Amino acid sequence: MQQIPGIEALRAQLTGRVIDKSDLDYDTACSLWNGAIDHRPAAVARCTGPSDVAATIAFGRERGLQVLVRGGAHGYWATAVPENDLVIDLSDLRGVSVDPGSRRVWCGGGAILADLDAATQRHGLAVPGGVISHIGVSGLALGGGFGWLVHKAGLTVDNLLSAEVVTADGRTLGVSAGKHSDLFWALRGGGGNFGVVTGFEFRLHEVGPLVHLGLFFWGAEHGAEALRLGREVAASLPRDAGLLLATGLTAPSAPFVPERHHGRLGYALMVTGFSTARRHQRLIAPIREALPPLFELVTSLPYVELQKMFDSVAPWGLHAYGKGLYLQELSDEVIAVLTERIPGKSSPMSLISIFSLGGAFADVAEQETAFGGSRTTRFVLNLTALAPDAESLAPDHAWVDSVWQALAPYAGEPGSSVNSMADYDEKGVQAAYGSAKYQRLARIKARYDPENVFRMNVNIKPAPQPSAGGSLIAG
Ligand SMILES: Cc1cc2nc3c(=O)[nH]c(=O)nc-3n(C[C@H](O)[C@H](O)[C@H](O)COP(=O)(O)OP(=O)(O)OC[C@H]3O[C@@H](n4cnc5c(N)ncnc54)[C@H](O)[C@@H]3O)c2cc1C
Repeated sequence: MQQIPGIEALRAQLTGRVIDKSDLDYDTACSLWNGAIDHRPAAVARCTGPSDVAATIAFGRERGLQVLVRGGAHGYWATAVPENDLVIDLSDLRGVSVDPGSRRVWCGGGAILADLDAATQRHGLAVPGGVISHIGVSGLALGGGFGWLVHKAGLTVDNLLSAEVVTADGRTLGVSAGKHSDLFWALRGGGGNFGVVTGFEFRLHEVGPLVHLGLFFWGAEHGAEALRLGREVAASLPRDAGLLLATGLTAPSAPFVPERHHGRLGYALMVTGFSTARRHQRLIAPIREALPPLFELVTSLPYVELQKMFDSVAPWGLHAYGKGLYLQELSDEVIAVLTERIPGKSSPMSLISIFSLGGAFADVAEQETAFGGSRTTRFVLNLTALAPDAESLAPDHAWVDSVWQALAPYAGEPGSSVNSMADYDEKGVQAAYGSAKYQRLARIKARYDPENVFRMNVNIKPAPQPSAGGSLIAG
């Protein structure tokens, strides 16, 4: 059994546990949401705070080990994960503390969305997040983070007020608009490239606790009409609503789905509302009039339940592959590509979800954050292959790639969504940020992580250092 030389010294130094191949719970400690990734690290350091993180980084650097950061473990990345790497696992840092008076919340770097939602909803408040409650706040926020509240309150990262970051050289920095402002800018979209975030402080918004949902489902034969209707509704969506199109959804055996439609391939339009039930009814009534659905679910529910509604669609251990894309519009050409390609998927779980982006999302200026997508785009598409095992994932992995290729010509620049990238190369990452943003990120990377210690991610390479006598470039 391989052991990292000196691992006992790290064990003695950390407050948290260091788990390696000699431990009975090693397999559990390495498990990731994506069952397609066989990750066998040399050790997992379950850090309990910045000093554990700093010690683990130093230990890894001294021994030339690759360091990988784990927040909620839902990263899509399927590119080769290293053997014998050292994982900085933040899952013991899940504390959340809410200050309802100042409308601020602080959460640990290992919190998942359910932790954040549960604590904030006790006060009728929320941070905009994603639509599956078991994803990590860290990865979600550092790459952007869109969900039901994106029109009302922007991306998760648009609400970041400050962060506690351990840098590659072991310093713990308090980062905000007023402190290390270059790093604060880079964290808001630049992913895990700049350090390990051990805590986040977010702005809160009034939400719920009761919110409203209208879900409408049509069979595949009405795909084009359903997508055109979704486009129309999105065009005039008020800020206190959210819209998601589930394209190529296989109808689940849920209580609200008539039995004769279980397993039917189709298209769902979901509109959520954050004002009154009456206002929401008025918003969604024209949908069923324009295109009578096969079935619908119109209900009010607690916000925390809405956030958990799709949790069972993507349970831990599924094999997954994904790609993301921003589209300026859901043109007739795009709709034709989607409706032609949807029947090509094999696994009932695979689908293409389309989020409408607008409202508060588009209020933020292009250069205000490092977020890698244009603020003028109106739709983000997540192409997701999901299957119970490797064999059944393979055809849908190819399906995702082929649909992505077919849609890419319609995407603007920057076109890909970094949080949905399962495989990426340097060119792909540069294209996702666009040249100017990528270069600014690379300069900041050179300041905080010149040796690219944090490279097991959607990686931004440090800009070349100025030669002796050369001038530093302002970021
Ligand atoms: C089932 C599912 C549903 C999703 N739904 C949405 C959605 O609705 N909206 C949306 O915007 N996205 C969504 N995503 C994408 C999601 O935002 C990304 O996969 C995100 O990276 C997951 O974060 P994590 O912390 O769980 O993952 P991890 O695998 O732990 O981390 C992902 C990346 O972030 C880095 N990282 C994580 N934590 C830290 C930290 N504390 N400090 C520094 N670096 C860190 C890691 O190095 C890694 O590169 C979904 C993904 C899945 C799998």
